[in-house]
Amino acid sequence: MTTHLDGTRQRSFDFAVIGAGVVGASIARELARRGASVVVLDRASGVGGGCSYANAGILAPDHVSPLATPALLREAPLQMMRRPPAVRVRPTRGLTPWLGKLAASATPTRARVAQARLRQLANESTHLHRELGAQGLNPTLRKTGALDVYLRHPRGPVAGLLSPTELRELEPGLAPVAGGLHHTEEWVVESRSYVRAMLDDAMAHDAKVLFGTTVQQQVLSGGRVAALDTTAGRIRVGHVVLASGVESGALADQVGLRLPLRGGRGYVVDVATSAGTLAKPVRLKEHRVVVTPIKDWVRVAGSIEFGDEARTADLRRADALLEVAARVVPGLRGRPVLDRWAGERPCTPDGVPVIGATNTVQNLSVATGHGMWGLILAPVTARLIADQAINHRADPDLAWLSPDRFARRGTFLSRRIA
Ligand SMILES: Cc1cc2nc3c(=O)[nH]c(=O)nc-3n(C[C@H](O)[C@H](O)[C@H](O)COP(=O)(O)OP(=O)(O)OC[C@H]3O[C@@H](n4cnc5c(N)ncnc54)[C@H](O)[C@@H]3O)c2cc1C
Repeated sequence: MTTHLDGTRQRSFDFAVIGAGVVGASIARELARRGASVVVLDRASGVGGGCSYANAGILAPDHVSPLATPALLREAPLQMMRRPPAVRVRPTRGLTPWLGKLAASATPTRARVAQARLRQLANESTHLHRELGAQGLNPTLRKTGALDVYLRHPRGPVAGLLSPTELRELEPGLAPVAGGLHHTEEWVVESRSYVRAMLDDAMAHDAKVLFGTTVQQQVLSGGRVAALDTTAGRIRVGHVVLASGVESGALADQVGLRLPLRGGRGYVVDVATSAGTLAKPVRLKEHRVVVTPIKDWVRVAGSIEFGDEARTADLRRADALLEVAARVVPGLRGRPVLDRWAGERPCTPDGVPVIGATNTVQNLSVATGHGMWGLILAPVTARLIADQAINHRADPDLAWLSPDRFARRGTFLSRRIA
């Protein structure tokens, strides 16, 4: 998949996209399809170097909500005490003010407005995922629907709650649970297959994809990024798109743009299963664990941890998720584990993504901070970035996504990335 600059001699591009996760790959494809010359740079040796390595793989547009909600504040203490904890926080010096901003954003009004806007984007994006599927460009997209299951009877009435018998008619692989809900309008997509398909299509439209290439420094000249210094040498650029997941904060810092991103670490464990183990995704509502059938394996995903970015992940936490999942899907018990993984969701303190151009640097766009919803929102993010950067169609209604909402610092120290 990788092309080499040496082989092409091309050292100058209309667009450089930094990061080849679900977001960067989608943007590269959209820009290349619109006729721009594009280079995608990723420091990893191949697809899935960041958070897009694995995720629950669910497109559930009506479940999308900002991270900062009153429910998060209300439920976090209980979620931190669960075994295994669904939420973990290691307070560090930098994290505490960030969490303060998250809490301040979690007002009922702000959360309601952000949720409505995000769901509209998520619905548009799901439509785009389906269009890609119809064109043969979303190879693993399947409409499955999904179940929310409760191990204990929920407090208060829940509209549409199904009995254990009704649930098992829908999903015979389920153990008896207290009740659940059936959502019909949901889809499954395998993350790395999606990224590969986007990059393949970008390359079919002449984009260059350079894995193993770290962007170390953005070279500023006259209020623009003139070039990128990379481990593959200097590349001249017309426009830069920062789609580097949780690392986007450090790259933004180089050019004086403040992006207060934090990693929200989640865990995944993939289990080989026999046919009929599970047909549709199951969300364990109390534990915030998701069990998704993907091809001939099942993925268990969950947890959100803040403050541990610099520490090596303890992958026993992925096994703890599997333990809980096997209580509800007994067919997972004793099956071979194919993979364990932990990754940092790029999270903003208002819990809303960052999508758009900045006033700080003339030719820089940002696409990150998608937190728990990067897979579903990737296609619409690509469309918004391409509309702004190629067609100069900045939508004033999208100011809520602007990178400039975190305010610019007066002075900055340009740091080179090793
Ligand atoms: C457990 C879990 C479950 C999830 N479930 C879902 C789900 O069901 N549905 C959903 O929509 N979302 C889900 N998500 C969220 C989703 O996976 C993320 O939002 C998404 O992967 C973020 O993608 P990205 O492209 O922004 O970042 P990344 O995938 O992190 O990509 C950034 C890339 O930038 C590269 N990079 C960084 N710095 C540099 C540099 N200096 N030079 C060059 N390259 C650089 C990295 O190598 C990386 O490949 C889940 C996440 C987790 C952890």
